[in-house]
Order: sequence, then C-alpha cells, then structure tokens
Amino acid sequence: MRINAEDLTQKVTQILRKMGSSPSEALLVAESLVQSNLKGHDSHGVGLVATYVRHFEDGLLVPNTAVDLVKDDGVILMFDGRRGFGRRVGGEAMEAAVARCAQTGVTLMTLRNSHHIGRVGAYGEIAMSAGYISMHFVNVTDHVPTVAPWGGAEPRFVTNPLCIAIPGTENTPPTLLDMATSKIALGKARVAMSRGEKLSPGLVIDNKGQPSTDPSVMYDDPRGSLLPFGAHKGSGLALMCELLAGGLSGGGTIQPDNPRRESIVNNMLTVVIDPGRLVDTCWLSSEIDAMVAYVKSAQPADPKNPVLVAGDPERSRVIKCKVDGLEINDEAWEEMLNAEARL
Ligand code: NAD
Repeated sequence: MRINAEDLTQKVTQILRKMGSSPSEALLVAESLVQSNLKGHDSHGVGLVATYVRHFEDGLLVPNTAVDLVKDDGVILMFDGRRGFGRRVGGEAMEAAVARCAQTGVTLMTLRNSHHIGRVGAYGEIAMSAGYISMHFVNVTDHVPTVAPWGGAEPRFVTNPLCIAIPGTENTPPTLLDMATSKIALGKARVAMSRGEKLSPGLVIDNKGQPSTDPSVMYDDPRGSLLPFGAHKGSGLALMCELLAGGLSGGGTIQPDNPRRESIVNNMLTVVIDPGRLVDTCWLSSEIDAMVAYVKSAQPADPKNPVLVAGDPERSRVIKCKVDGLEINDEAWEEMLNAEARL
C-alpha cells in the first residue's frame, strides 16, 4: 500500500499512545520512525512498531521515561536512558550535549541503557542544527549477536552503527555519514524476508558459514550471520563501537556474560565539536564547499550514476517520497495492526 507521511505518522502516534506514551513522546517517536522510511531506511522505520510493542509488553521498553544525568564533569556528560524510548532519551541527551558544547567547545557524551535509538543520523542532525559537528559510536545489547567478525562463521557483533555529521554551508547541504558496520542492517534482511525477496550475494552467511542470498538464514536456529562491511576494516570498526559505546558508557558490550533478553538496548559514545573553536568558520565552509564539489566532480564509473556524498541519497529519497507517498508492505502493516489490537 501507499500512504502519505502525515497519515502514517498519525497512525503510529495513535498506537504509541495506546502504550501509554504522552502525546509529545508518541509524536516524537512516530515522526522519527517515519523519517527513517522517508530517508529510505525502512529497516528503521514503522516496521519496528510491532517490535517496540512486544518489548513494551515484556517490560523491556518503558514509555514516558526521561533521560537520567548520571555524571556531569565539565566536558563530560554521562546519561542513563533507563529503557526509555531511544529517540526521546537520546534526543534529550543530545540537546544537553549541544548546550554544554556552547560553553566548552567540545562535549563527550555517553548514553547507556536506552531502548532502540533508531536512525543514528537523527542525533547528528540535532548537533548540525546548532552548527556543530558530531561523531557517534553505537553498540547494541540485550540481544543475540547477528554479525560475524571478519573470517568468522558465527556472529559476535550486532550491527554497531557509526555516524559522523558535518553541517552544511550556504552552498553545500550537510554531509551525514550514518551507517551500520555490517554490510546491511538486520532490519534490511527482515524487510527482504517479509517481501519474499532474495538478498544480493555477499551480504549474509548461513549458520554453517556458507554464503547465502536467503534472508531467512538470519532467523534460523542457530542463526546465520550478517557480514561486516569492508572485510577486516568493518569488523575492526564494529569492535571499536562495542568497546567505545559499550565500554565507556558503562552499558556493557555484547559479550555473553551480559544479559540477552531479546530486547534492543543501545549504548552510544558521542563527541560534539564546535568547529568555530578550532578554525575560522568562513574558511571551513569554503573548504567543505570545495572538497565536496571536488569529490562529486569525479567522472562517474557508470554515466547513469553520478558520484554522491553521504547524505545525498537520503535527501533525494525524501523529496521523491513526499511526492509519491511511502510504500508499506502488507505484512509490516498487518503486524503493526495486530500489535495495536493487542494493546
Ligand atoms: P546504508 O548502507 O544505506 O548506508 C547509509 C550511508 O551511506 C548514509 O550515510 C548514506 O548517505 C551513504 N550512502 C549511501 N549510498 C551512497 C552513495 N552512492 N554515495 C555516497 N554515500 C552513500 O545504511 P545502513 O548501514 O543499512 O544503515 C541504515 C540505518 O540504520 C542508519 O540510519 C543507521 O544509523 C541505522 N542503524 C541503527 C542501529 C541501531 O542499533 N540503532 C543499528 C544499525 C543501523
């Protein structure tokens, strides 16, 4: 089915309100899920509502939870999300980190024990709206591992996203690198499975370590694995996300002594930087303009596909979806309505 973003936001808000979320929290989370669909990341869109409802029913997601400041030490701010909605507690932690950055020029912020924070770029966008740069390293706990380390035949990581956000200038839109360190997010396998589609080769292995294009291998028992992007380099970055986000936030890593209750808990290490404390911002803007233009001026390998930079695909997708509406597959819609009926 096709649905416009406003109607979809309203529907999701309604469902979240039935979980007891306040009107503002429900709208914030709904808008953030729909934004993921609009930006082309259906893996982090409204298809997650049924999962959120299940976690709520199991007491693993606690609506109406504000973020808790556990340490305030100059440039360092540490927060506990107390299993609240990730978009809410993550947003509150980011707003505080941005406010602190105005005084200190740089902030090191950690967030632990948050329910799923969703599309990490959303937090980069908060920093960019204040003119700041941000870097985010994220891990996932309270979940079984889903991503094999380089050379491994069984999973040891979860998709461990990282994000770097550089604000736009008068001439250049924001540069927002926001990606899982696996070749695809787990949700992309879920979406392919629900659409009855195969995956491209090289993205997953089955539970015997053999290459597969069948997304259902990710739901076998024992599970198959997603593969890290960039061979040993993606695997190395995933480990760093575990150690930085899980270790420095105090939330813990995916290692098996930590609880795995079939939930999604995110921990995040964030650095917010006021670039004006380092260099002249007019000069920086001209460097950003020149560098991004230089990258995009490369002769495309395929004339039909011009060279892009991070952030471009999402921007053009939002424009297209605003015109065409969003496509939701029947199974995802049905799951959402079933979850609503249970509430
Ligand atoms: P992806 O593979 O589509 O990569 C997205 C990044 O690559 C974006 O920055 C995009 O602008 C850039 N990009 C895409 N095509 C490009 C091109 N042709 N040229 C230049 N740049 C290009 O996304 P993904 O890795 O599947 O991640 C999807 C989303 O899932 C992200 O928003 C991520 O934060 C989120 N995620 C969240 C969690 C979590 O636990 N909260 C876990 C994993 C992923």
